[in-house]
Amino acid sequence: MSVLKSLFIEACPTCEKTLVSNKSDFATAKVVKSCPNNHYEKEYHPSLEGYVVTKK
Ligand SMILES: [Zn+2]
Repeated sequence: MSVLKSLFIEACPTCEKTLVSNKSDFATAKVVKSCPNNHYEKEYHPSLEGYVVTKK
């Protein structure tokens, strides 16, 4: 359950700031959302139909 929840989190787990979408790539339709303080990053890959999460 906690794993599922983390896939859809829209806030940084470290500082709880709302993730901001600042690096959308229109060529691949990839969407990147990241913590304003750069703790956490989440990329949506339409080709994978899923998210790739990076914790920093
Ligand atoms: Zn953060």
